[in-house]
Amino acid sequence: MDKSTKCALCPQKAVVHLKYFNRKLCKQHFSELTQDRIRKNISKNELVDKNNRVAVAVSGGKDSTTLLYSLANFAEKFPIELVGITIDEGIEGYRSESLKVVEKNYKKLGIEYKILRYENEVGKPMDEIVKKDQRLPCSYCGVFRRDLLNKAALEVDADKIATGHNLDDEVQSILMNYIRGDFSRLARTGTKTAADTGFVQRIKPLSVVPEKEIALYAMLNNFEVYWGECPYSHEAFRSEIRDTLNRWEERSPGTKYQIYNGAENLKELLKGAIGGAILFECEICGTPSPSVICKSCEMKKEVR
Ligand SMILES: [Zn+2]
Ligand SMILES: [Zn+2]
Repeated sequence: MDKSTKCALCPQKAVVHLKYFNRKLCKQHFSELTQDRIRKNISKNELVDKNNRVAVAVSGGKDSTTLLYSLANFAEKFPIELVGITIDEGIEGYRSESLKVVEKNYKKLGIEYKILRYENEVGKPMDEIVKKDQRLPCSYCGVFRRDLLNKAALEVDADKIATGHNLDDEVQSILMNYIRGDFSRLARTGTKTAADTGFVQRIKPLSVVPEKEIALYAMLNNFEVYWGECPYSHEAFRSEIRDTLNRWEERSPGTKYQIYNGAENLKELLKGAIGGAILFECEICGTPSPSVICKSCEMKKEVR
């Protein structure tokens, strides 16, 4: 067992021990590795093309803030244009606070941005919606947020939407879909969505970086991050999967990467076996939908 507290690559003090890699790294070498992973994920999987206009979904948390700075860094060497998109769900004390952080970061980087609010788009802020309905707020929020991110991206004329999903988020979703037997959704997860779905294509440049490492990276780089958690957040199944995965990872380091890589391969096989869903145009808003009225419009009606 290596008891040294030094970086494996230089004499500096190690700040992290990557067990799956059996390596201790200093601040500089850890940061370089993280940047390198993100850059390689973008180029290897062709997440962006030259002269793309990329809408970056930013909530102010560690993941999306790291995403914003990473893409700004990437854009210095590769010709892409960035525009921030942020959804204000209308959650007093949570989103109101994180929005301040988000706007500071946009301004610091000199990135144009657009904020869409539930109050205007859905008709009510989340604080009002939860008062009226006992159903899990996350189910509403997930549908509305996805819908509004797409709308915002169309309004700013973006070619892609980049989101801050990390390795843990991805692996949790893979297992959840697997356990539910939802293979068509499993085939649609991954570091980028298909280009021909009728929605703006989504890319996940951070999908190869574990959550803990993103938190560390954001701290070491002094990014201004909002660390608060949504007061309505309650996803029991996901939390259970998260805990289980962390236990597996602790016992056999590398498990998360193995599941992730396995699913990437499986996805290729599934693509041929599972045909795309037949999509209509929603009668109310015109977005592609498997039913004549899309989920978002249906939920908006309920909420109003
Ligand atoms: Zn080092
Ligand atoms: Zn609709």
